[in-house]
Amino acid sequence: MVDKLKMYIGGEWVDAESGETFSVTSPVTGKTLAQVAKGGRKDVKKAVDIAVEAQEKVQRMPIKERIQLAYKVTEFVQQNINSYAKDLTMEHGKILKESLIEVEDVIPNMLWNAEDLKRLETPVLNAYSRPNVMHIVVRDPLGTVGVITPWNFPMLMPAEFVLQAFLAGNSVVWKPASYTPISAIHFMECVVKAGMPPGFINMVTGPGDTVGRALVEHPMVDGICFTGETTTGEDITKRAGLKKITLELGGLGPLIVMNDANVGKAVEDIIYGCYTTGGQCCCANERILVQEGIHDKLVKSLVPKVKKMKLGDPFKNTTDIGPLNNEPVVQKVERHVEDAVNRGAKVLAGGARAKGFPTQLYYPPTVVDDVPTDALFNNMETFGPTAPIITFKTLDDAIELANAPRYGLSMAIHTQNFKTALEACKRLHAGQVCVNDSVYYWDYNNPWGGFRKTGFGRVAGKWNFEAFTDVKTLVFNVGRSEY
Ligand code: NDP
Repeated sequence: MVDKLKMYIGGEWVDAESGETFSVTSPVTGKTLAQVAKGGRKDVKKAVDIAVEAQEKVQRMPIKERIQLAYKVTEFVQQNINSYAKDLTMEHGKILKESLIEVEDVIPNMLWNAEDLKRLETPVLNAYSRPNVMHIVVRDPLGTVGVITPWNFPMLMPAEFVLQAFLAGNSVVWKPASYTPISAIHFMECVVKAGMPPGFINMVTGPGDTVGRALVEHPMVDGICFTGETTTGEDITKRAGLKKITLELGGLGPLIVMNDANVGKAVEDIIYGCYTTGGQCCCANERILVQEGIHDKLVKSLVPKVKKMKLGDPFKNTTDIGPLNNEPVVQKVERHVEDAVNRGAKVLAGGARAKGFPTQLYYPPTVVDDVPTDALFNNMETFGPTAPIITFKTLDDAIELANAPRYGLSMAIHTQNFKTALEACKRLHAGQVCVNDSVYYWDYNNPWGGFRKTGFGRVAGKWNFEAFTDVKTLVFNVGRSEY
């Protein structure tokens, strides 16, 4: 008997109006883990109606009470870290060590925003054109916000957006990813146990192309915060109308290694950036751009280390990388490797699905050298455990290569030369540029988001409140003002 899990609307755990469910299969074992309510347009309508009705109550709830609710949510997460991390690994495939970090990270992430809300300030200005007039700037919630989250960080993503949208004074309808709804439901359980009033935060599970779209298109939804693929983000911009949207989309993060780089440190950062979470991260190191003079030394150091990495049971302490999450992800990795090889690239490690595991989703850490610039690796996100190496001659070439595909989340450069680093920082078009660190870099208080195909808007830290509020100016005539 597998668990039958429900969605949460208007303060109740409910089945879909249609009674339909979908199954969640473990990438680790291939077994069915749960049957989850398969919501549709009717369920979205019901959730939005309830959220719209509740919104004024959210806004009138004192900030102190909203923050106390957030604290309580973190207490329930804290009590369940180990069991949530195990469930996360089972439905996602990432190694248990990484799932533990992800669940633990939920707590400071939400506490950070609670502190930011306590200290949120807006300016009071003297009017420029008129004497005796004061402008008081405040931040108003958007109203009812739709939050749509991906499967790659199924606990952390809701902890970055769902609670924050509420903290900012919005009512929320949240649609989690269908590959990993169990972690999402755990997060919702914590919200419910914390005492969240009915209707303030609602969760509708079900397919993106019906539940997600219905939320995006609903005329009473005032804002959308979406994290996911660039192509889905493009669809959302077409359907959302005039809602305020924040889009956290794909990345194609390059790490540039200059001739004067510290090879040991660069290799460490490549391994961390390419293979953590099986490379299934928006800020994964998707491309290694290596200057000609250091190429051989870097490859010689990197390849044996990658070959030693252990693919296997993600619950074992000795495992470095578990199965990928789902079949389309593995197929995309295969497509990109095959495409590069057909264009003359060489596979130096990994390069094909591993055999002898309970599912077909185990794919080893892979290094591909001599990747030409027209290869898929260099033009679209792979989202798998690959390190494609592309060689360049000058810094100008590297910057052109880095910027050309028009993704811009996180980029990095390794060099000992301050002037080179500074020039790269200026010329790389990305929301974040890391010097002598991994492309895979994130912190609670960084304004997180990207340029161009990575979307728009910033989240994390105080930036969440910009995403989930609008600015309003109150104009006070405090004396006799002449026109
Ligand atoms: P998808 O775009 O496939 O899905 C993301 C969410 O959107 C899911 O909940 C999905 O539902 C839903 N969805 C799918 N189609 C639509 C639609 N037409 N309208 C509205 N909602 C829809 O992304 P993935 O889940 O595959 O996530 C991986 C992607 O997310 C990568 O590109 C990664 O780089 C990016 N990402 C970006 C981050 C950032 O901060 N920039 C952070 C994390 C991930 P369902 O699951 O039911 O299909």
